[in-house]
Amino acid sequence: MDVEQLRLGAVVETKKAHPCGGTRWEIVRTGADLKIRCLTCGRVVLMPPDELIRRARRIAEGE
Ligand SMILES: [Zn+2]
Repeated sequence: MDVEQLRLGAVVETKKAHPCGGTRWEIVRTGADLKIRCLTCGRVVLMPPDELIRRARRIAEGE
């Protein structure tokens, strides 16, 4: 996985689950920090792209 896959609208599956149990996140803003939204609970988190790549298992949608 590389940073070019982290496009607006892409859905990323993380290795570790969010406290709500969800592992799927939609990228809702790109830039120096990505804004990602948990698809299970709707919480929005800011994360640098390299950190998201480390935590991601795969791109689930929008590849
Ligand atoms: Zn969540």
